[in-house]
Amino acid sequence: MNNVRKLKIYQLRNLEEIPQLKVLSKEELFNIKVVSNVLPFRTNNYVVEELIDWSKVPDDPIFQLTFMQKDMLSNSQFSRMADAISRNLSTEEIKKVADTIRKELNPHPAGQLTANVPFYDDEPVKGIQHKYKETALVFPTGGQTCHAYCTFCFRWAQFVGMDDLKFATDESKRFQEYIKEHKEITDVLFTGGDPMVMSYAKLKAYLEPLLSPEFDHIKNIRIGTKSLSYWPYRYLTDKDSDDILMLFDKIMSSGKHLAIMAHFSHYIELETEAVKMAIRRLRNVGVKIRTQSPVIRHVNDSAEVWTKMWQEQVNLGLIPYYMFVERNTGAKKYFEIPIAEVFEIYKEAFKNVSGLSRTARGPVMSATPGKVSVEGVAEINNEKVFVLNLLQARNSDWVKTPFFASYDPKATWYTDLIPAFGQDEFFFDEELSDFLSEKEEKFIENYLR
Ligand SMILES: *Cc1c(COP(=O)(O)O)cnc(C)c1O
Ligand code: SF4
Repeated sequence: MNNVRKLKIYQLRNLEEIPQLKVLSKEELFNIKVVSNVLPFRTNNYVVEELIDWSKVPDDPIFQLTFMQKDMLSNSQFSRMADAISRNLSTEEIKKVADTIRKELNPHPAGQLTANVPFYDDEPVKGIQHKYKETALVFPTGGQTCHAYCTFCFRWAQFVGMDDLKFATDESKRFQEYIKEHKEITDVLFTGGDPMVMSYAKLKAYLEPLLSPEFDHIKNIRIGTKSLSYWPYRYLTDKDSDDILMLFDKIMSSGKHLAIMAHFSHYIELETEAVKMAIRRLRNVGVKIRTQSPVIRHVNDSAEVWTKMWQEQVNLGLIPYYMFVERNTGAKKYFEIPIAEVFEIYKEAFKNVSGLSRTARGPVMSATPGKVSVEGVAEINNEKVFVLNLLQARNSDWVKTPFFASYDPKATWYTDLIPAFGQDEFFFDEELSDFLSEKEEKFIENYLR
């Protein structure tokens, strides 16, 4: 590709350099600034120039996906921050107001800080989460940011500095020792943030060691990334694009499976020449691209969008993988959709596509016991229920065992659900709470003492 595109990042401090924002009123621009002082904002020239249709703003789905909206905060939260800005408070004082509001937005959903961190020699291993037997998640230090930020992001707390990169790998490479010892692990999934923001040199330092014989048990290397949506030039004209493709080629040639777990929110992200070419280059070296996204109000909350997105993905040789329910954090109130409605969107889209697109599983909630899939709505003994199933579980014996929650048209997350048929708990709850308290104790004993 001849057209080299240079990345230009826009953040709060250079927001007004985005020429297209001139279509907004003063008030709309101020609103974006107010909310961006609380939730992390970042976008770039590709998103602004090629993905957003500025004639459709503010309803344009990619605008909603990347630019903060007033209603993402409650009235009280918004006016507290608006007030702080209007009164020209110092940066420090504004940060204080921001942190107070952030704490109200459930910055740490689903106890990830303790429950999923494994131990090695009685010490927690930094930068790794090992929740499901066969797959370890790795959070490389250099990959804990993204080419642009999603307004609904479930890792937003990390991007505003609340987490102090607690998840990220450290220099010691203990995570590699851990993976080496744990022969039950077949998959390593690099995630973030977005590992593809890392340079070739950094990426190589994480990926290449896995090709040595001590890691023979690792069959599949996955990279969770939104780069194809937010910066496809990563695989085209960045300085190290060709090196990255060569590294991927080397991994594939070594006999391991390399999968890009691509986050696509809307079919618009699949329509540019750049993304199509990037997909072609990745597929040419044999990389498999699987796709996933949550269903998000104002962005992709219709069966038409999902039908078209899955069809387009299959057409481009991608494999639809997961449809998620939006997590209970950040601007959840703005984006949330009742589980019942998400299920209808899934069912309607599923109905419209051929079997090649029906590989998308869902809708799925990544919750404390595991990946809870909503299989359907049924009436059993005169009670309307959600039929649920664990696709992944902390204890793999729990998977593929249907369980039932009372139908609740308002429920938006797993924790809103209560067991059906008057039962006190789901079949795994006792074992789960034993596991969690044991883990917590171990964590406190070894880490926080
Ligand atoms: C989703 C997820 C995985 C991967 O699960 P697969 O079903 O194999 O894609 C691994 N670890 C965690 C913590 C996850 O949430
Ligand atoms: S790509 Fe993922 S981690 Fe990055 S901002 Fe979006 S949701 Fe958050």
